[in-house]
Amino acid sequence: MDATQKIDIPRSDFIGGSKGLLIGGKWRPSASGKEFDTVNPATGEVIARLAEGDKTDIDEAVAAARRAFEGEWSRWTPYDRQRLLLRVHDVIEKNFDELALLETLDMGAPLSRTKALKTFVSQAILFYASQTRAATTESAPTSFAGQFTALKIKAPVGVVGGIIPWNAPLVSQWWILGPTLATGCTAVLKPAEDASLTALRVAELLLEAGVPDGVVNVVTGFGTGAGAALAAHPDVDRVAFTGSTETGRKIVEASAGNMKRVQLELGGKSPDIVFADADLDIAVPGAAMAVYGNSGQICTAGTRLLVQRSIQDEFVSKLQEFSQTLRVGNGLDPLVNLGPLVSRKQLDRVLEYIDIGAREGASLTSGGKRLAGDLEAGYFVEPTIFAGVNNDMRIAREEIFGPVVSVIPFDDADDAIRIANDTTYGLAGGIWTQSLSTAHQMSQRIKAGTIWVNCYGALDPGVGFGGYKMSGYGWKGGPEHVNGFLYEKVVYMNIG
Ligand code: ADP
Repeated sequence: MDATQKIDIPRSDFIGGSKGLLIGGKWRPSASGKEFDTVNPATGEVIARLAEGDKTDIDEAVAAARRAFEGEWSRWTPYDRQRLLLRVHDVIEKNFDELALLETLDMGAPLSRTKALKTFVSQAILFYASQTRAATTESAPTSFAGQFTALKIKAPVGVVGGIIPWNAPLVSQWWILGPTLATGCTAVLKPAEDASLTALRVAELLLEAGVPDGVVNVVTGFGTGAGAALAAHPDVDRVAFTGSTETGRKIVEASAGNMKRVQLELGGKSPDIVFADADLDIAVPGAAMAVYGNSGQICTAGTRLLVQRSIQDEFVSKLQEFSQTLRVGNGLDPLVNLGPLVSRKQLDRVLEYIDIGAREGASLTSGGKRLAGDLEAGYFVEPTIFAGVNNDMRIAREEIFGPVVSVIPFDDADDAIRIANDTTYGLAGGIWTQSLSTAHQMSQRIKAGTIWVNCYGALDPGVGFGGYKMSGYGWKGGPEHVNGFLYEKVVYMNIG
């Protein structure tokens, strides 16, 4: 605890007590009156009670969002919305230390990491503020010049249902809030049951910044209750979902009732490929943190670490050395690199996969255990390396979402591509090489939405990202993302 005492820990009065739902600008308990606990995964302590929203609350939130969409908000100009987003930016930035603390206490990521998200969130809000003129009216060339003229109009899609995951809610919520506010849509957010606090606190701050009542509504609760009701709701025009592929499939099925527009960012099993000519001084820590960052709870994590056979032994031993320098512990400690897993359920899942890997014959060369002693009340797992992994093993095929890396040897570029693309996912991939030609060739051939060369995890909200195959569809970030919040229509005018 010495280190904990030294860090400047921000304060928050938001911790503790019962949190309500935000519907139509008012905070209130769930219609059923039910609540559930939310727990700090570093200590197992209950840090607040959340309202357990269900279908009734979703119905009311969607009705409030619809009223707001049709009301005064629809007359806000792009200039008004841009000014609003700039006010939102300033309020969020001013309160970011508190938000970082809430995120750390709620889902476990180290405070050093959650505080560092400030730049990304600021960039995201400013990017969306720059997009408020995306709802355009443009004339389109026709074959009947002089007789007909055509106008193409883009208009906000309407009520958006945003289903948020627990692994980085502070970031995830902006993929919905940003384009919603930029385009003049309205939203109902359903944060993850394991980590809802920052979405609730951000909602308070949005009201403070002047977001009109009903434009953003928040219904906490479980996936099977509030989440499923939102995905199926006949008056929701678009659903944005980030989470597991399994849940993504349910969302698509539920959306079919009214043919909602759907955007999905799902799981991954991303290949991170280290060639023998790589600069190992950057490749080793880079590839390690590509998996261990956020304790492996990142959908783009480079969990299949493909290492060219000629450097395999040297690489694995350097990877082990680096892994052992990482400190796992309570994220309030400034020296901690890896926090706990988000929940008991996630801990059990990760430990089960470690067991499966060992039983499948992979060689456990580092880590593999839950941490005991001072940390036994939390959900901590050591950084874990499996070497000699075969791409057919379950630990190479299924998303673990923990600090577990599978090292898979390859012979040459063709072999690496064969293994890299032999997956049902296609979210991201990494390449470590000093050859420009290898970097270009591999970037073209890996079937994934984002490729990183000699780096891993860089993300710009103005550029965005998406997935191939079962990693989902619909671009997140960038102008294409904003377009997804707009309907297009055409107007023909007879001017003859
Ligand atoms: P995990 O299993 O790791 O919690 P999920 O993909 O199930 O990941 O969760 C991501 C988000 O999806 C959470 O907000 C969760 O409540 C929500 N969710 C889970 N199941 C459903 C469902 N059937 N319909 C809609 N949302 C769901």
